[in-house]
Amino acid sequence: MNPQETLQIKCMPVNPIEMNLYVVYRKNGEGILIDPGCCQESEFERLFRFVDQENIQISHILLTHPHFDHFWGAARICKHYGLPLEVHEKALGLLEKGAMGAASFGLPPVEVPEKAKVFDANKMEFAGTRLEVRYTPGHCEGSVCFVLPEAKTVFSGDVLFNGSIGRTDLPSGNLDLLRKSIFEQLFVLDEDFQVRPGHGGRTWIEQEKYQNPFL
Ligand SMILES: [Zn+2]
Repeated sequence: MNPQETLQIKCMPVNPIEMNLYVVYRKNGEGILIDPGCCQESEFERLFRFVDQENIQISHILLTHPHFDHFWGAARICKHYGLPLEVHEKALGLLEKGAMGAASFGLPPVEVPEKAKVFDANKMEFAGTRLEVRYTPGHCEGSVCFVLPEAKTVFSGDVLFNGSIGRTDLPSGNLDLLRKSIFEQLFVLDEDFQVRPGHGGRTWIEQEKYQNPFL
């Protein structure tokens, strides 16, 4: 651990659905991956090279929700780092089904990692900092947002986007529940928290609270 280094957030849009993979780390220290959605060879190489260049020890590979675009490359990435994919307890049983969601894009099912486990939502930490897990169903079951107080950042998965919200027309989607998740779990954060969504550019809690046309 290198507590003197500032926490860094690297966003890598990957796969044809342009899903944001995040590397959260201290240079020459510990780091985590959120949503290992790499698909093309070049995307895997870019991720592995970046982690090596920044000299990061990856300690957790986390998933916001069990949709295939978010864990497309998980099997290979988990094997590469010798780590399991860590998911919410309600997501564990939904990975196989989520993997088949690729069919709706005319794609073969994505590979589910051999090792997946439920994270301990009450004791998540890395690189000497705390990561809070907020359960935020509505886009789908087993969906969480990760709050990083040190960097005043929330990783919002497909719950809240810049100027939009997650779709609710897929299995276990529910608009009322999604709105409740956003109001009760995300809009209670300080307004200067930045929001790092699963797709598209970043935004801020303040901006979405007052300007999001879907809320
Ligand atoms: Zn997505």
